[in-house]
Amino acid sequence: MPSAPSFDQIEPPNGSTITYENGELNVPDDPIIPIIHGDGIGQDVGPAAQKVLQAAAKATGREINWMRVYAGASARDRYDGENLPQDTVDAIKHYRVAIKGPLTTPVGAGFRSLNVALRQTLDMYANVRPTYHLEGVPSPVKNPQEMNMITFRENTEDVYSGIEWKAGTEDVEKVKKFLVEEMGVGESLHDGPIGIGVKPITEFGTKRLVRRAIDYALENDRQTVTLVHKGNIMKFTEGAFRDWGYEVAEEEYGDEVITEDTLWEEREGELPEDAVVVNDRIADNMLQQILTRTDQYDVLAMPNLNGDYLSDACGAQIGGLGIAPGANIGDGLVLAEPVHGSAPKYAGQDKVNPTALILSGRLMFQLMGWNDAADLVKDSVEAQVASGRVTYDIERGIEGGVKLATSEFADEIVKRISS
Ligand code: NAP
Repeated sequence: MPSAPSFDQIEPPNGSTITYENGELNVPDDPIIPIIHGDGIGQDVGPAAQKVLQAAAKATGREINWMRVYAGASARDRYDGENLPQDTVDAIKHYRVAIKGPLTTPVGAGFRSLNVALRQTLDMYANVRPTYHLEGVPSPVKNPQEMNMITFRENTEDVYSGIEWKAGTEDVEKVKKFLVEEMGVGESLHDGPIGIGVKPITEFGTKRLVRRAIDYALENDRQTVTLVHKGNIMKFTEGAFRDWGYEVAEEEYGDEVITEDTLWEEREGELPEDAVVVNDRIADNMLQQILTRTDQYDVLAMPNLNGDYLSDACGAQIGGLGIAPGANIGDGLVLAEPVHGSAPKYAGQDKVNPTALILSGRLMFQLMGWNDAADLVKDSVEAQVASGRVTYDIERGIEGGVKLATSEFADEIVKRISS
């Protein structure tokens, strides 16, 4: 195992290091786990999630050695204006499993997204978001319990490649000239200021993402993997995603995977046991399918932008952003993070729901193989919600609930875990 890098301003705590061999994480009972609390409400949900996760680790005979690392505003204060210090990147790379709260990204100008930078620098190519309903959480749909999907969103290309040129610049005019004069594709471009972006989707990026989604389905007894694309319009990018996705399914899994596109009712009873069906849907249709045929979908694999829209839409069906967890995954790397952002208007008020970050920690535990601790976290959060003693976002949607602060909500979950 390589020795820890020499960090500039942070000191690793005592504890053991998670390693990665033969495609598997080896997780000791006393791992060092880097944590970024994050911007805005990160200061509220970070400490709350930390104590719940530590309680679950201890209750199952383990101990987490947290290593606070910094990004965003907290990093700028410590690292002379830097948003994403090398210390933070090195810590996540070395310790392999980490968790973060939200980071603020300015819109339209200023620095590029730190979330995107982190995912790309560490080549965490899959953003994974399980969406399941916790009993008692109010939802805008009639049967929220039917939602039990997990989205695999490609994390390094498509719109995340960040290749675009601003209107009015010399560069954008150069690209426009190239398109019109050399590629002969400028006919439909209107005159006047124009912004241009490029949407790359590669065979390599697609196949490793789809492979992770199919592996997950096989390992977790899921029945379908749906490739979600807009290949009817963008044939050579989104359409290629679909084709390469099917190639992986057909060429790499033998009888374990079937590629056919029949509806759930028709398939029942016909499938070889344990086989996974890979099918595909066009993205706009998929946005209605999650509402109208919720229980027919299990695992969704998507290019970046489709995944962005769909995972938030799935999250809304189970009660909103305060609940929805996620993680970024690379080969031998996990960075768990909630779906929600830094909600600046609530920052520091001890008000928002820490459940999304707590359940991101649960997903982190699952990816570490700590399934007993993961179950304990879910059961305790669910019992807390069922008690009606909840944060504002849940309380406003139920009758007779009691509104708790972020810290009170977390403390009551800790009590449940420890009792
Ligand atoms: P947001 O921070 O997710 O907040 C939008 C709304 O969602 C909040 O006003 C609140 O709704 C609800 N919400 C979010 N987190 C909640 C929680 N923990 N508990 C209860 N309700 C919660 O989205 P945004 O305002 O669009 O983005 C703010 C900043 O976060 C931006 O800079 C954005 O770039 C960044 N962002 C970061 C990440 C990330 O770090 N991965 C992800 C998304 C966005 P109500 O007021 O209706 O209750």
